[in-house]
Amino acid sequence: MLAPTIKGPFYQVVADEEEIFDSAYRNQLPLMLKGPTGCGKSRFIESMAARRGRPLITVACNEDTSATDLLGRFVVKGGDTVWQDGPVTRALREGAILYLDEIAEAREDVIVVLHPLTDHRRAITLDKLNEEIKASPEFMLVVSFNPGYQRGLKELKPSTRQRFVAMHFDYPRPELESEIVKAESQCSLEVAQKLVRFAGKIRNLKELGLAETASTRLLVDAGKLIRDGLEPRRSCDVAIVQPLTDDGDIMTALQDVAAMIF
Ligand code: ADP
Repeated sequence: MLAPTIKGPFYQVVADEEEIFDSAYRNQLPLMLKGPTGCGKSRFIESMAARRGRPLITVACNEDTSATDLLGRFVVKGGDTVWQDGPVTRALREGAILYLDEIAEAREDVIVVLHPLTDHRRAITLDKLNEEIKASPEFMLVVSFNPGYQRGLKELKPSTRQRFVAMHFDYPRPELESEIVKAESQCSLEVAQKLVRFAGKIRNLKELGLAETASTRLLVDAGKLIRDGLEPRRSCDVAIVQPLTDDGDIMTALQDVAAMIF
């Protein structure tokens, strides 16, 4: 059931992602958002959580994330030892949307602990409390994953991947991306279009071997600097080129492309 809608952040729909989210939600299926950094995955989930009127609990996963960090631990408070829920446990109880960002960064043993949340059980056993926490019906698990096997990024095990409905996200097509950059940075449409053209060129220059490419996020940042009065080429340099590379030759090549466009 849809709870009263809370106005969410601006999210430009790109394809059928809202429909798929809604159907997965109604069917209590966990969802995986695949795609490169900065292409709108987190923004999409923020917007969906607001639309559903559910709290959103986000965890940025990394290799130091432990099962205890996610599930909870005993802490000493005023001389007493009390249990403190971790974000996963809190999300289960509150019926929140739990967003595990970059799940592949978490250790395998931590990911396995979450498996029971992804099937009919929808529950977690807290050994330390000797208690099973069942997910509230509104709970949903969403994870993001950046498939970057070519670049040595971490992979997800097939046995984990299989547990999710998975959607591929990518940078939006140029007209939409220009609208997003304009709306997010408040720059002119003309500037936004140029930034998107610049990004298109960088994304096509596969031979540069960049670990990450020009994301929508970087374009929004550049748009903000330009709107603020910083010279466009310099804005492209500090908001797009420098974050992407430390290699002098590649920097020069990208700065040349920016100079051609701006
Ligand atoms: P990801 O989670 O994929 O790394 P984000 O969702 O944080 O990326 O997106 C980065 C930024 O790009 C957002 O803060 C927002 O400014 C912009 N953005 C990207 N796609 C969209 C979209 N479809 N609608 C609105 N903003 C978007």
